[in-house]
Amino acid sequence: MEERTLVILGATGSIGTQTLDVLRKIDGIRLVGISFHTNVDSARKIVREFRVKNVAVTSDVSFECDAKVWKGPHALEEMMEVLKPDITMVAVSGFSGLKAVLVALEHSRRVCLANKESLVCGGFLVKEKLKEKRVELIPVDSEHSAIFQVIEPDVQKIVLTASGGALRDWDPERMESATPGDVLKHPVWNMGTRITVDSATMVNKAFEVLEAMEFFDLPFEKIDVKIHREGLVHGVVILPDGNVKMVVSLPDMRIPISYSLLYPKRATLESFSLETMKISFEPIDPKRYPAFFLLNRIKDSYTLRTAFNAADEVAVDAFLKGRIKFGGIHRIIEKTLEKLDGYPEPRNLEEVEQIHAEAQKTAERVTEWLSSISS
Ligand code: NDP
Ligand code: NDP
Ligand code: MG
Repeated sequence: MEERTLVILGATGSIGTQTLDVLRKIDGIRLVGISFHTNVDSARKIVREFRVKNVAVTSDVSFECDAKVWKGPHALEEMMEVLKPDITMVAVSGFSGLKAVLVALEHSRRVCLANKESLVCGGFLVKEKLKEKRVELIPVDSEHSAIFQVIEPDVQKIVLTASGGALRDWDPERMESATPGDVLKHPVWNMGTRITVDSATMVNKAFEVLEAMEFFDLPFEKIDVKIHREGLVHGVVILPDGNVKMVVSLPDMRIPISYSLLYPKRATLESFSLETMKISFEPIDPKRYPAFFLLNRIKDSYTLRTAFNAADEVAVDAFLKGRIKFGGIHRIIEKTLEKLDGYPEPRNLEEVEQIHAEAQKTAERVTEWLSSISS
């Protein structure tokens, strides 16, 4: 088989690192370039182990190594334009993932997308680019990878599963003052801190509903979410004739990562034992997850979706620094949405970026006010 080339944007993060782990286990894909933001030590190790020839640095840290180093505000575009890889993995975190995915779509044949903020805030830009270019977009987020494997043109509903996060069995009143220690306590998984807090508020699942609307071109009404404690079923497709298809696997991100790289082929990874399987589904309690239910207000507006993401980013940061209580997160998001309501819809990347910056500033002011009245 002919070797295919790969670039990983955000190679030093959790998804980036797990992608490297997949590369150690499969053949036929050669890593030709990476990007990172600040983690110089990890980047240097990756260059050495994988003999990477090109590195884009997206912050202003200084970095020297044996590879060609691309720097400056256009580092990603310049590197991608030269490399034109067969596959790009977009594992950058946060809002900057939007720019990264647009660059990846411009210059690659396949884009594996882990970053969710890009579809939440700029789904229309990603879709415009997909129409313009002959390029495949494959989901990496585990729920979307699952649905992608079994979806059909005529579905009654799809169901995304959620763990419910670290506070799933707490009384709603007690949740109000949960500490970062309570929220980050996780017996099984060790993910980034923002996604772990977003899992406890189910803001992550709200992002995933919006992501599913974009990936599968489905109306909001056809997407359901259920709490599924066992973490084995990642996606469900309900068909009109009464058949239901589910995708089951151990919760290991290397499975969806490898599938996105090799699709329609598969890697040989760990096998699954059926005897370990027990599955349950529960509805979501609105009292426990008020931020999730803001979806109804934001789903049809890229302005409000961008504000939702920016406000959550500010609120989670304030929560982790002890400036606000856990219960303050959804209040900051709600107040920010109120202030941005009526703001025009974005038409291009610059306008999405402006809304993001405006919402960040607004959320900062709301956070300042909330922390002053509660201290
Ligand atoms: P991490 O925070 O672990 O990694 C982020 C990566 O992006 C790092 O390589 C980091 O570089 C780089 N980066 C950070 N800030 C910037 C920036 N401003 N510009 C460019 N690059 C930047 O995140 P994760 O790997 O956990 O998540 C990546 C994306 O995938 C997120 O959108 C997340 O929601 C999504 N996702 C994650 C899952 C998971 O299990 N972790 C599951 C499903 C989706 P450096 O290390 O040098 O700072
Ligand atoms: P999920 O609700 O799918 O949770 C991710 C995993 O974390 C679940 O499989 C669950 O495994 C575990 N988990 C979460 N909270 C608890 C808890 N309180 N106690 C025990 N286990 C918990 O998604 P989230 O909204 O929570 O966000 C996490 C993100 O991480 C998702 O975007 C998902 O894509 C990604 N992820 C996916 C994996 C996969 O499926 N391959 C693996 C790890 C992360 P369990 O309940 O079995 O412990
Ligand atoms: Mg997910």
